[in-house]
Amino acid sequence: MVIDRINFLKDEINKANYKYYVEDNPSISDFEYDKMFAELKKLEEENPLFVTPDSPTQRVGSVSEKFFPHKHKYRLYSLDNTYEYEDLEDWYKKIVKEYGEQELVCELKIDGLAIALTYENGCFVRGVTRGDGVTGEDITNNLKTIKAIPLKLFEPASLEVRGEVFMPKSSFEKLNEENLKNGEKLFANPRNAAAGSIRQLDSTITAKRDLSIFTYTGIFADAKDAPKTHYDSMMYLKKLGFKINPNIRLCKDAKEAVEYCKEWDEKRFGLDYATDGVVVKVNSFAVQQEMGFTSRAPKWATAFKFPPEEVTTVLKNIETGIGKTGAVTPVAVLEPVQLGGSTVSRASLHNFDEVGRLDVRIGDRVLVKKAAEIIPKVVKVIDDEEHFKLKPYTPPEKCPFCETKLTTREGEVNLYCENPLCPAKVKSKIEFWVSKDAMDIDNIG
Ligand code: NAD
Repeated sequence: MVIDRINFLKDEINKANYKYYVEDNPSISDFEYDKMFAELKKLEEENPLFVTPDSPTQRVGSVSEKFFPHKHKYRLYSLDNTYEYEDLEDWYKKIVKEYGEQELVCELKIDGLAIALTYENGCFVRGVTRGDGVTGEDITNNLKTIKAIPLKLFEPASLEVRGEVFMPKSSFEKLNEENLKNGEKLFANPRNAAAGSIRQLDSTITAKRDLSIFTYTGIFADAKDAPKTHYDSMMYLKKLGFKINPNIRLCKDAKEAVEYCKEWDEKRFGLDYATDGVVVKVNSFAVQQEMGFTSRAPKWATAFKFPPEEVTTVLKNIETGIGKTGAVTPVAVLEPVQLGGSTVSRASLHNFDEVGRLDVRIGDRVLVKKAAEIIPKVVKVIDDEEHFKLKPYTPPEKCPFCETKLTTREGEVNLYCENPLCPAKVKSKIEFWVSKDAMDIDNIG
């Protein structure tokens, strides 16, 4: 029955929302979330009688009870999204039909935490998370610790700006390394690290984290001489002292916008901040106003999302590999899954220390990540009820190939097989010897 499927999707999405927005600890990948969300939206469109006000398709985000709530003066919305260029072109065609040819602004979609900042006479007075779009959390003190948020503007302007707080990828790696050393919780990705850092009750902790912001919206209310287009408003925000993303581009139509998306799908890996897509906005404020909003997103903007870098799948087994030095390494054998344009069935688990730290168990659902050219790796275990029913994994004591007792070396995390005649080790040595990095041999017999 359709209603059962709708209820199932609502439940799953609500559970995922709580983990993502309130706990900053996602239980599924964004790609899977978006797939469920798109299915729910489609089913509701086909069966409008089943749409209820509490459906996740009618709402934005969530508010936690950690901070003082603050009601937004102007509501914050989410964005409709797609993974297909065709949808982007169709969206534009509909706009042209009704409003004529329109300039579009393309911006990188920064994967961080949305916030609204209020300035009065050029002074920063309040900063609030998006929350459910109507009410957010007042995190003014924490935001004051972010150097890229101006406390005083270059002009005495009164306005509200919106932006995305993010943690650079390099700082995220460093933070996780430190947390690992101190036995503290690891963050799944820079977005969760940024959200977890900004929503700290103790501002001194936030101050220690390397956070920054890109501002992407200005609301000038009734200000005289307010900019008439989104692009001009961004230039004005820059002039006032806000940090805007330098990769913003004015495009004359959807074709140019698609080119921008394709260009950044390749170039995104070279950035030191996470971006999960491109936001395409109608440039004219007058047309934006005419187009308006749905219950959760503006009609004049849409997000094109890049193919996912992260998915969840089931860990079927942990196999051991052996290198030319005798280092024994664990390899995750996965239920095959589509990731970054290819099917992934094996992923790195680095070493047995990492296996212990992740507490990864055979049968677990795991989050697997692939960044440009890098071998996919298991980032975290989905620690749901099922996880705790599974048997904890114990590393091997003997070499799985020659049965020699494995050893550890001082200051190293790897386990080693010290048998010089271990067949797996000999095979690895030969493989290395013929490889491009060594003798570069095409055929050997
Ligand atoms: P979103 O992140 O898809 O898009 C809206 C947000 O984009 C805005 O609120 C804004 O913060 C941000 N943004 C970044 N750059 C921007 C720019 N240049 N211009 C305008 N906005 C910009 O929407 P959302 O409502 O925050 O969250 C929904 C998305 O979050 C889902 O599509 C999914 O990918 C993810 N999510 C994942 C889980 C999970 O369990 N993995 C759960 C909930 C949400």
